[in-house]
Amino acid sequence: MKTIIFRCIALLFLTSLAFAQSNKRPPNFVVIFCDDLGYGDLGSFGNPTIRTPHLDRMAAEGQRWTSFYSADSVCTPSRAALLTGRLPIRTGMYSDTRRVLFPDSADGLPSSEITIAELLKTKGYATAAIGKWHLGWQSEFLPMKQGFDSYFGIPYSNDMDATFVATPRENYFRSLKNPKREYWNVPLMRNEQIVERPADQTTLTERYTDEAIKFISANKNKPFFLYLAHSMPHMPLFRSKKFENKSQRGLYGDVIEELDANVGRLLYTLRQMKLDRNTLVVFTSDNGPWALFDEQGGSAGLLRGAKGGTYEGGMREPTIFWQPGTLKPGVVTGIGSTMDLLPTFCAMAGTAAPKDRVLDGYDLSAPLLSKGNSPRQMMPYWRGSRLMALRHGSFKAHFITQAEYGGGAPVMHPTPELYNLDVDPSEKYNIAAQHPEVIAEMRRLAEEHKKGIPPVQNHLDARIPPKK
Ligand code: MG
Repeated sequence: MKTIIFRCIALLFLTSLAFAQSNKRPPNFVVIFCDDLGYGDLGSFGNPTIRTPHLDRMAAEGQRWTSFYSADSVCTPSRAALLTGRLPIRTGMYSDTRRVLFPDSADGLPSSEITIAELLKTKGYATAAIGKWHLGWQSEFLPMKQGFDSYFGIPYSNDMDATFVATPRENYFRSLKNPKREYWNVPLMRNEQIVERPADQTTLTERYTDEAIKFISANKNKPFFLYLAHSMPHMPLFRSKKFENKSQRGLYGDVIEELDANVGRLLYTLRQMKLDRNTLVVFTSDNGPWALFDEQGGSAGLLRGAKGGTYEGGMREPTIFWQPGTLKPGVVTGIGSTMDLLPTFCAMAGTAAPKDRVLDGYDLSAPLLSKGNSPRQMMPYWRGSRLMALRHGSFKAHFITQAEYGGGAPVMHPTPELYNLDVDPSEKYNIAAQHPEVIAEMRRLAEEHKKGIPPVQNHLDARIPPKK
């Protein structure tokens, strides 16, 4: 009798285990994407005065990636690349003249591109875009036409739609450094409707997080993908009353400390709802700090360069992956890129990445799950139509350099600048003369990379004709 009872219990246990496994939900994905956050702006990435306890805890519980790159040094192309897993030079989201989309731009990310949201929808994911979009503001380009169920945020940068006269140039800088709500007529949108204009930017960080928490609560029983693209710390800097004059680092520090607190609220929500162990959260930034704004811009820490350029500070981002119980905590020095998120999420969700087009991303499951090194060996640094630099393993060659801003012409280097990023992350010591064989190999890799990219139509230059 006893044996029969034991057998019944064992059978029941195995059946329920099999049932649980067959019903195992694929993981949820949350991407927290900051705007112009520098590599050196978090406590866990070495900032001495900005307090980021929640992000530091996230980094301690998760993985801090120290060689993780955005695909471009400015907003629009960087965002297009994250969502499509493709270089901007392939999707047409590049230009040598207008580097990002503006309120008078006539175009956006083509609907023929396939986004992470569209791919995850095929697996039944709920999807939301919250925050800055910047991939086209007309209704045919907004998030709901690119696989997102809902949208809440500003459709382009928070310094656009200026109401002041931006000439002389000092007016522009003065206004951005002493920001008032009425200086910008930026709309806040829900789905495809404007709900507030000008947007009250002081509460954007908090309101985006409120929306994110609402979305998570509403979808806690199904898989979800949340793309939370904060507007901060892009100039003009705004923070809510609670964070005014709190940081030792001044206004910029207040803004980062508010972002940190709101990341804390989001992770707390995931823990409270017992979703933390089944949600992969990625925290990163779209490009480096905006150095034009002096102390109101962020810091690239020990990296050279800033937003707009192809030295490391322009594109290497402070990046944290977090999923307690699945990701072994630690520091990952292998190379990764925002373009890798699409193939990684597809692999983890059990869906195929698109096969009818070239992807520039790699599946990072192996390094995330501590089952191997990053498959990414190479990182190309494009600016508009030019391949400026290439990283392969430890080495980085700059074929062309150019000032981040200010209209200086590109400088072609007959012998590229060469750095070993493992020993010289600050790109201080050009070792080209000692390594002709590495230069030859980097040139070969660059030519091979360029050959695989057919010319495509540029989607950033077209403007809406002015009204007569
Ligand atoms: Mg940006």
